[in-house]
Amino acid sequence: MNDVMIHRDSCRLCGGRDYHLILRLAPTPIADAYVPALEGPRKQESHQLDLYLCATCGHAQLLDVIDPAVLYRDYIYVTTSSMGLSDHFKGYARHVVEKLKSAPRTLVVDIGSNDGTLLGHFQVLGLRGLGVEPAHEIARAATQSGVETQPEFFTPRLAASLRASHGPAGLITMNNLFANIDDLQGTVAGVRDLLAPDGVFVFETFYFLDYLQNLVFDFMYHEHLSYFTVRPLQRFFASLGLELFDLERVSTKGGSLRCFVQHMGGPRVATPVVAERAAEEEALDLQNPHSELFQTFRARIETQRSLVMAELARLRAEGKRIAGYGASATTTTLIYHFGITDQIDYLIDDNPAKQNTLSPGCHLPVHDSTAVTALKPDVILILAWRYSDAIMAQQQAFRERGGRFLIPLPECRLI
Ligand SMILES: [Zn+2]
Repeated sequence: MNDVMIHRDSCRLCGGRDYHLILRLAPTPIADAYVPALEGPRKQESHQLDLYLCATCGHAQLLDVIDPAVLYRDYIYVTTSSMGLSDHFKGYARHVVEKLKSAPRTLVVDIGSNDGTLLGHFQVLGLRGLGVEPAHEIARAATQSGVETQPEFFTPRLAASLRASHGPAGLITMNNLFANIDDLQGTVAGVRDLLAPDGVFVFETFYFLDYLQNLVFDFMYHEHLSYFTVRPLQRFFASLGLELFDLERVSTKGGSLRCFVQHMGGPRVATPVVAERAAEEEALDLQNPHSELFQTFRARIETQRSLVMAELARLRAEGKRIAGYGASATTTTLIYHFGITDQIDYLIDDNPAKQNTLSPGCHLPVHDSTAVTALKPDVILILAWRYSDAIMAQQQAFRERGGRFLIPLPECRLI
């Protein structure tokens, strides 16, 4: 515990106070706090990383919350800088409009709208877009480019003011932000107040069942406060007068849920998918803190950790030079939990925002992929392991001159 962190003493979905520790990962610094190399190393403290399950509603969550002002201090992420995302949003906008049969001129509010990429696609389809984005510079640029954006955090007060100025929203969207919100009760109450009587709230978040089954444990870091499953969400929305009426499973972020929510008693008929998913979760014992699922999950992580560390130790003993591929938030969790900090010399990542930075806490330098030719590592440890195939395909030349890949997860493999 320290001054930038508060410890909640109740579940953020149901307010229950009976919760149980189900997974403890090694403490890490803020996972995405890469430091500009020019500034030089600065001390970055590690914070505990513990996952709890609420015994009342079954919601999995971090209860140690880092002050958002600290957590997002260096937030520089702009949607269009992320390759492929604009195409993803274009398809997403079309899919949602067709599925919900949204009428032309429907007001769509995107919470956490970033540079307005998604809303731009909705506007092309004839809807009216309104963004909410607390990063002032990004909000200003979005407004200038034709997507009206409020430079504020979304709160019930802002929801009331938007409803007064723009009318109720026929569609409210939120992508990859829901899991990062501490005050879900307040946020969703605001969504409800802004939503038209026949309106729909759509959000996408990674799915805790996929998290467990796909062993993407490195998706746990301090920004991700909630690890959602369907049954606790159903109950949570009902407590606020809302209904989760449809679901889609999508492959992003190691396995995600796209959730569709309306007012309780709204015009849309609930699809069987919601009840089916809830039933499967119950059969798997997913909302029980003492479930064997969690024991198995912890054991699988530890097995892979031992195998990877033994392999790294063997390679180091042979004098091999090892580079890590990937410099993202997930990388930080993986490096710290496995204890890889001293085993690799540097990281490689082609994201321009990560060039000439030092990794959080242990300050490994980050280079672009030309480093593979210049620095000639013998082995590349693929920390961004969900993209192993793409990375190996891109590094064909490295392979041809005898370089090897160490893939840490879901099973340790030296190729
Ligand atoms: Zn709860």
